[in-house]
Amino acid sequence: MSDFIPTGIQLTYLVAASLFILGLKKLGSPATARNGNLVAAVGMLLAIVATMLDQKVLNYEMILLGLAIGSVIGAIVAYKVQMTEMPQMVGLLNGLGGAASALVAVAEFWRLLDHGEAIPLDVNISMLLDVLIGGVTFTGSFLAFAKLQGLISGSPITFPLQQPFNLLLLGAYIAGSAYLIVSPHSLPVFLGVVAVSLVLGVMFVIPIGGGDMPVVISLLNSLSGIAAAAAGFVVMNNMLIIAGALVGASGLILTEIMCKAMNRSLFSVLFSAFGSASASGGAAGGGSAIDQTVRSIDPEEGAMMLGYARSVVIVPGYGMAVAQAQHSVRELSDQLERMGVDVKYAIHPVAGRMPGHMNVLLAEANVPYTQLYDMEDINPQFEQADVALVIGANDVVNPAARSDVNSPIYGMPILEVDRAKQTIVIKRGMSTGFAGVDNELFYKDKTTMLFGSAKDMVAKLVSEVKQL
Ligand code: NDP
Repeated sequence: MSDFIPTGIQLTYLVAASLFILGLKKLGSPATARNGNLVAAVGMLLAIVATMLDQKVLNYEMILLGLAIGSVIGAIVAYKVQMTEMPQMVGLLNGLGGAASALVAVAEFWRLLDHGEAIPLDVNISMLLDVLIGGVTFTGSFLAFAKLQGLISGSPITFPLQQPFNLLLLGAYIAGSAYLIVSPHSLPVFLGVVAVSLVLGVMFVIPIGGGDMPVVISLLNSLSGIAAAAAGFVVMNNMLIIAGALVGASGLILTEIMCKAMNRSLFSVLFSAFGSASASGGAAGGGSAIDQTVRSIDPEEGAMMLGYARSVVIVPGYGMAVAQAQHSVRELSDQLERMGVDVKYAIHPVAGRMPGHMNVLLAEANVPYTQLYDMEDINPQFEQADVALVIGANDVVNPAARSDVNSPIYGMPILEVDRAKQTIVIKRGMSTGFAGVDNELFYKDKTTMLFGSAKDMVAKLVSEVKQL
């Protein structure tokens, strides 16, 4: 009987881990993603309940109080946060995950110190790694949040002797850790290692900015998982180790996908100030094209181009997300299809402000998945498209990424809308996108601009198309 609860807990952990893996697999396709989310959430509920039954739990009241406070804050934030603020939100959540993992190591260190217990080498090493990765994730993520929220400059921040200073910090961490391995009970050195780890997180993120931020957020997401796995080794909890490893691995895969989508290597994201060029590029780019003229049309003309086309490719971007125009866009494509127009959606991996942003919005509007095309699949089809309809996208359709070696987005694969027979761009004015660079697409002969907010303009297009 005495073994019943521990065995039951481990078995429940096994079921929970299987549900996590199944959930992750389902998240791989838009058609099964909602279900995958639910499956993984059930796994997490099982894991929490099993952990609460653990005999080592000393104080249920505190846990329930924390759970209640956290749930209320989480529910309010989830309700209030705008879709466009998701990267910041993910940044904050990563940071809190890293902080929680690092606190596990700190609490365990304190407990062992308090009880005068020996600190085994494996636990010691796990604690030191947990403090480093959790600490870096915590401060790095909060800094990333501040950059994306505009609380501090989003451009890379550099200063003289930055690299030597970072090396000095890393050296201090290694020296402190070596000391603690030989003499594990030194509180001041342990606290010093914690402090250095926190500063390293700041130093890790400040030189990165601009278009590289999505990659950093996803890397920090992965680190928060690795920190949780390290915390799992500190308290020898299998569930934490497995869940942390899954987050760490999937975060790394996402980081790799984001790097590929932007044609950047992770090394160059982390060790070069890519974003600084983007930040200044906006002004320079804007200046260079300011004299050129654009051709503007009204919704009636736009409706004629769309209604009499054989094939239309819709390219959604950040502006569609801000305007929440996805439902009107769906209405427009339904109407066009009823008139015999072939409609496809082109999805760029970094369109919007979070991975999968466009997929989520279009799924919300019940756009059939079969109409969604990845960049590799749709690019060869633009030449046959009569009209490419760009809705609030900018950087992901900027031909400078292909042709202008001086552009900060040079090398990033784009949706090649300029190869379509005609391009209509819906946006409010001539403002630049996230990378801050002007877009020569808007000045091309085949491009017409439909100025206005995405939701209004698409709604007007729907009513005009209906009258054709
Ligand atoms: P961009 O940010 O390049 O451009 C968006 C455009 O939308 C702006 O030029 C703006 O022009 C227009 N816009 C804004 N509000 C509205 C509105 N209400 N109606 C119509 N248009 C509007 O968007 P993209 O999707 O093309 O590119 C995404 C960028 O974000 C890339 O640079 C990517 O690297 C970056 N990024 C991506 C992340 C991700 O994970 N997906 C995360 C973080 C950054 P105007 O003001 O003139 O209307």
